[in-house]
Amino acid sequence: MTDKAKRFPLQLSSVVDKKPSADRSNRSVATPQTATKNAAWENSRNTPRSGAVPSAQPQKPAPAASKPMARPAESASHVERSNSMVSDGVRKAMVARVAKQGVTDAKVLAAMESVPRHMFMEPGLSSQAYIDASLPIGHHQTISQPYIVARMIEIMRDNQQGGVLNRVLEIGTGCGYQAAVLSLVAKEVYSIERIKPLHELARSNLRPLRIANIRLHYGDGMLGLPQVAPFDGIILAAAGLEVPQALLDQMTIGGRLVAPVGSRHQVLQLIQRTSKFDWTSTTLEDCHFVPLRAGTV
Ligand code: SAH
Repeated sequence: MTDKAKRFPLQLSSVVDKKPSADRSNRSVATPQTATKNAAWENSRNTPRSGAVPSAQPQKPAPAASKPMARPAESASHVERSNSMVSDGVRKAMVARVAKQGVTDAKVLAAMESVPRHMFMEPGLSSQAYIDASLPIGHHQTISQPYIVARMIEIMRDNQQGGVLNRVLEIGTGCGYQAAVLSLVAKEVYSIERIKPLHELARSNLRPLRIANIRLHYGDGMLGLPQVAPFDGIILAAAGLEVPQALLDQMTIGGRLVAPVGSRHQVLQLIQRTSKFDWTSTTLEDCHFVPLRAGTV
C-alpha cells in the first residue's frame, strides 16, 4: 500500500514538468538520453520551431566529434526543460497514433498524454518509450504496448455510469505504467504484482509522480483483493487460460473486467457482471500478453 490517501484525482501534469527527485535523476537524468537531448537542443536552437509533432523515433544524434564546440553550456534545468519539451512532443505523437488505431475515449487519450511513459523504463530504453511496442522491464516481463493499455481502459470505462469508475483493480502492476494511467480515470486504483522486485520497481517509478490514489500490493492477483472488493473495473495485464473465479466474484453488479485469455493465441475478453450469479462474456480483438501465473516470487 502506498502511504496516506490525500487528493483524488491527482494532477499529473503538475508533476511531469517538475524537476526529478534525487532517485529519479539517478535513474533517468544522470544517464542522459543523448538522442533526446540532441533533439531538444536542436529544437531550441533552430527557431522558429516547426510546430510539427516530432517523430516517435528520436533523431539520430550527430557524431560527437562533428561540432564539438557548438554546444552552449547547458544548465541542468535547461536540459531538463528541453527533455520535457521533447517527451511532451513524442507523447502527443504516441497518443495521436493510439487514436488512429481506433481508441476514441477522450479521457483515456488525455490520461495517456499526461503520464510520462519514459519514466517507467530503464534509462537504456527510455528513448523508445513512445513507440507503439511492449518493451522489457526485467524478470521476463514487459511494459504493455500503449495502444493496448488505452484500449483496455477504454473498454472498461464504457459502463452504465457514463464512464465513472470508483474502484478498479489491476492484476500485473509490472513497472506501474498502466496503474498511473488508470489513476487518472478512476477514483481508486489497486494493483497487484506477484514478482517482488517488480512490485518494488513500480513503487519507485510511481513515487516521484506522487499519485495519491494508487495502492500497490505484492501478492497473487489471481486471488484478487477480497478485503477491498467489489471493484467496478478489473484489468488483467497477463493472460490466463481463463479468468479466475475469485476475480469474477469481486466485481460489482454492472462491473466490467477486461482480460487477455489464451496461451499462444490470445483474445481480449470483456466480462460484465449482470447479477449476483450472472456474467456475460464478449470476445474482442486478438492480443499478446505475458502469462498469468499463480503464486508469488
Ligand atoms: N501493467 C503493466 C504490464 C505488466 S506485464 C504495464 O503497465 O505495462 C504483466 C505483469 O503481470 C508482470 O509483471 C507479471 O509478473 C504480472 N503477473 C502475472 N501473473 C500475475 C499474478 N497472478 N498476480 C499478479 N501479477 C501477475
